[in-house]
Amino acid sequence: MRFLVFYIFLTFSSSLFSQSIIDNSAKIIRSSLEESKGYEWLRELCEIGPRLSGSEESYKAIEWAVEKMKSIGYDTVWLQPVMVPKWVRGNREECSVSEGTDKGKTLSINALGGSIGTDDAGITAPVMEVRNFAELENRKEEAKGKIVFFSRPMDKGLVPTFTAYGGAVDQRSRGAIEAARYGAVGMVMRSITTKYDNNPHVGQMRYNDSLPKIPAAALGYLDSDYLSEAIKKDPSLKLNIKLSARSYPDTLSYNVIGDLKGSDFPDEIVIVSGHFDSWDLGCGAHDDGAPCLQAMEVIDLLKRLNISTKRTIRCILYINEENGVMGGREYGRYADTTSEKHVAAIESDRGAFTPLGFTVDADSLIIKKMQSFLPILESASINWIKKGGSGVDISFIKTAKALIGYYPDPQRYFDFHHSANDTFDAVHPREMQLGTAAIAILAYLLSEEGL
Ligand SMILES: [Zn+2]
Repeated sequence: MRFLVFYIFLTFSSSLFSQSIIDNSAKIIRSSLEESKGYEWLRELCEIGPRLSGSEESYKAIEWAVEKMKSIGYDTVWLQPVMVPKWVRGNREECSVSEGTDKGKTLSINALGGSIGTDDAGITAPVMEVRNFAELENRKEEAKGKIVFFSRPMDKGLVPTFTAYGGAVDQRSRGAIEAARYGAVGMVMRSITTKYDNNPHVGQMRYNDSLPKIPAAALGYLDSDYLSEAIKKDPSLKLNIKLSARSYPDTLSYNVIGDLKGSDFPDEIVIVSGHFDSWDLGCGAHDDGAPCLQAMEVIDLLKRLNISTKRTIRCILYINEENGVMGGREYGRYADTTSEKHVAAIESDRGAFTPLGFTVDADSLIIKKMQSFLPILESASINWIKKGGSGVDISFIKTAKALIGYYPDPQRYFDFHHSANDTFDAVHPREMQLGTAAIAILAYLLSEEGL
């Protein structure tokens, strides 16, 4: 019986795909793992530093990527201009207990992206801890003149960490708005993380123009525990916060776009992509450096293995996903007006961990067709293809038949996300390279089979 199943599987997979597709897919996996090129590029990229939009390092990284694509032998490489917001953290980020039994104790703090700074003296105020916006509204009379401390952690009991993140992230995105609504003078929050250390995890926050803008920052997880206990024991505790963050006028930056021309249908495009900007702590290795280099290596793999593709494979490194999504929007505008046909777009923005699957935003017939690729993709550790969200940047490519998100094991992503923990050594070469192979094989199959 087992032999029969195996025989049927072989017949099924070989009847669906040509021998050259089967052979080339095996070569892609072996070469990706053996040569580890993308991982070595990540080492170079991380040496440049973090890549927040508009920063000097972001321009150096863009130049580096253009040179790398040219040296690989991409058929075309171009820079797509795009205006991006520019926010700078500055050097001063301090938080200390200024009144109370622990007077002088310092807490680990980083401003949230987009936050205003303080003056030299900083803000000094008592702290009001809340778990959510409903609690803040119920106790709104207490908020006036205080620093509101949002302390709800990610839900540890959930298996999908992205769902747990989604359940906590409103504190970061809207916390300063809700705190300012009731007269607070500042807002701090517990870092959204699965790693219980003391490095703050940041990300973009928003203001409401009809409300006062107040400084907003993330505290280390351990110091959040401390603060929660300390204000229970000593309600007179006051914090002093000094931040030097500020926003500058929008500035010119670029998406990096490179093609491997298709032999039969050069105007039909299959995109592999990631966002090239990162937060300014760590070096954005998992978010989203390694995934960008996975996309960049797809074309290198095809070229070094002499695999030609029927359709054009396009690698896009979008700028400014983290604090504006201006790069994704700009490419979306291009996609709306070009005569090229976008067959499919893959985005990798969930870290560079062991491959699990692909989530696809497409109609059910297309998803079914893509599921027929699984016998080939399973050898690169892809277990499933199912309906789901794709990626923030590619969501603007409205004409594509399928928008696809790469989905590696999500259990450790939020240990690193948007923090000083997101460094080169956080990425495991085999995990990253296996993901590169999975994305390359999917792009290759989409090119050869169409949708
Ligand atoms: Zn990202």
